Amino acid sequence: MENVVIIGTGCAGWTAAIYTGRANLSPLVLSGTQLGGQLTTTTEVENFPGFPEGVMGPELMNRMQKQAEKFGARVEYKKVNELSKNDDGTFSLATDDGVIQSKTVIIATGAAPRYLGLENEMSLVGHGVTSCATCDGAFYRDVPVAVVGGGDSACEEATFLTRFASKVYLIHRRDELRASKIMAGRALAHEKIEPIWDSGVVEYLTDDEGEVRAVTLKNLKSEKTSELEVKCVFVAIGHVPNSQFVGDLVDLDENGYIVQSAHGTGTKTPGLYAAGDVADHVYRQAITASGQGCAAAIEAERYLADLED
Ligand code: NAP
Repeated sequence: MENVVIIGTGCAGWTAAIYTGRANLSPLVLSGTQLGGQLTTTTEVENFPGFPEGVMGPELMNRMQKQAEKFGARVEYKKVNELSKNDDGTFSLATDDGVIQSKTVIIATGAAPRYLGLENEMSLVGHGVTSCATCDGAFYRDVPVAVVGGGDSACEEATFLTRFASKVYLIHRRDELRASKIMAGRALAHEKIEPIWDSGVVEYLTDDEGEVRAVTLKNLKSEKTSELEVKCVFVAIGHVPNSQFVGDLVDLDENGYIVQSAHGTGTKTPGLYAAGDVADHVYRQAITASGQGCAAAIEAERYLADLED
């Protein structure tokens, strides 16, 4: 029987592991099939306190993992398919390799990129549709590409892609960006980036080899459609929380985010906590995810102490 199982290896998961490790709870961290959270697919993180020169996202995650392991956290590459509560108040976590029992669970599974929902979109992922400029940007050298979205992610992706692409179209459904001033300003000032306002991608067009060659754009004000030649579309329109496996042990809001207790990271089930982007649709920052991971660890530790009493 584990004391605490942490599901997820992003900022929330590793911070929870550092705190529960230092509390001598020997946390078990389940990483799913892929280690690391959203920061592993980003480049430079400029706003995590303590790094005045910035730090690369993957390096920050690596450091967090090392710090957690130093305090006794164990990592297993297992994906939780189902979470249930036993009659004695403990939890069962069903994985492909068997069932893990634990007294407490911290869900820190983060969120996955949202796509546009167009026909053939998912079959084109890796063939000219992607959600990760860091992963795929270098494949599109000296060709035009597009980024869809108007938030920080879209601006960051667009700016990063200027290193490779000949031209970066920033396609947004409104006529102003949601992104922070600094990131929007950086993107719009770049000579390679051309915004296309009030518009959406309504169709992916492919060549004989099944790779994206262009998109059909629709101006949402005039309803006019046009063709835009691009070799890749980087979709950056937000994320969907990874909460599908949790069942009815937690309440979900209308967008699938786990509802936390009014003051903390608890859920409607005692001993079950949620931290980071799987529960936070407001801040969604690395540092706030870490903060929630810390809070969840402290709450789990107190719950375990109460059980012993
Ligand atoms: P976001 O802020 O939610 O922005 C999503 C963008 O996609 C919005 O502009 C939205 O349009 C657009 N959108 C949503 N659904 C769409 C659809 N179906 N079709 C077309 N467009 C659609 O998401 P994000 O940019 O991924 O950022 C998430 C959080 O991470 C934010 O808090 C952000 O500050 C943070 N972040 C920080 C950094 C950094 O500081 N380095 C980098 C990346 C992200 P509307 O504007 O019309 O709603």
